[in-house]
Amino acid sequence: MYNYLKGENQLKRVVVFLIIISNILLLFGCGAGTSGYSTEFFSMDTVITVSAYGKKADEALSAAEKESNRLNDLLSVNGPESEINRLNADGSAVLSEESINIINTAVDLYYMTDGAFDITIYPIVDLWGFYTGEHYVPKDSELSELLKNTGCEKLVIEGSVVSFELPDMAIDLGGIAKGYASDKVAETVRSCGVKSAIMSFGGNVYAVGGRPDGSRWRVAIQDPADNSAYAGILELYDQVAITSGGYQRFFEQDGVRYHHIIDPDTGRPADNGVTSVTIVCDSGILADGLSTALFVMGYDKAVEFWREHSDMFDAVIINDRSEIFVTEGIKDIFSSDSAFEVISR
Ligand code: AMP
Ligand code: MG
Repeated sequence: MYNYLKGENQLKRVVVFLIIISNILLLFGCGAGTSGYSTEFFSMDTVITVSAYGKKADEALSAAEKESNRLNDLLSVNGPESEINRLNADGSAVLSEESINIINTAVDLYYMTDGAFDITIYPIVDLWGFYTGEHYVPKDSELSELLKNTGCEKLVIEGSVVSFELPDMAIDLGGIAKGYASDKVAETVRSCGVKSAIMSFGGNVYAVGGRPDGSRWRVAIQDPADNSAYAGILELYDQVAITSGGYQRFFEQDGVRYHHIIDPDTGRPADNGVTSVTIVCDSGILADGLSTALFVMGYDKAVEFWREHSDMFDAVIINDRSEIFVTEGIKDIFSSDSAFEVISR
């Protein structure tokens, strides 16, 4: 179902849409005389919104929804059609080339981040109840048992066959699936001839080109300490901005907050003072994997990691004192009402 955003009779009026979705605000206006279409649907376990401009925009939106649903069926951990579900149930499976490529990227990220990003964390995230909603704080002994089964070196990938070295292993692509989907949906929208579009996957934003008038899309990063406020604005052009934050999914027990991003060293929610990491680059899958990984690493390691890979991505890091740090490569496209510190190379 598409909502027509702008018609001929609205020529010369700039429309500013304020969409608050999960963790990022999108602030955008479309240029005079450009027709735009927008759609919103539920897929990949989140609300997805796509707005596209230009002649083939309506066609692009239906293709975008179809592509999201295809990826949802392929990658979710509970869909009957899901290849990942089949692998987790059987411990070994022949997978499509697409799933193998995603798993290989996840394994590359595991080694690149020194294990901070680890798709074999699934049994631990499951024990905490983040999939079922039946939340539970595991005992140390339970976590140390489960940690024996994690680590990507225990995944065997031979051609199109993936198998687990240990019987109780399972994988979860939740840390990169939305980023991958944003890459594929952007590709779909572009292949329809659209040059200007903005999409949000539960707050993770992919900007195709710029706004219809050629200016950059304005995307706001949520303040992790206040879900009705934002910490700053990024101006994007052909870029993704993906945020990992402890405020996005959590439960509280006995006054303690437990969130969904697990430190693979401890099996517990990462607890290092960082409250949100936004990655900006031109690849959704990379941005998604790295946002999770840098959140786990904590500030010092994340900065060291960025200095080693500053040609690949940039980041906005916020901590529990509401301090904002922005890497040098995006200092000119980031603005905030608060003071922020630039991290130099
Ligand atoms: P994100 O919101 O992209 O940071 O991803 C968080 C999701 O990824 C969680 O809901 C889990 O499904 C999964 N996950 C949690 N911790 C990790 C980790 N250390 N490495 C990879 N995936 C993780
Ligand atoms: Mg992620």
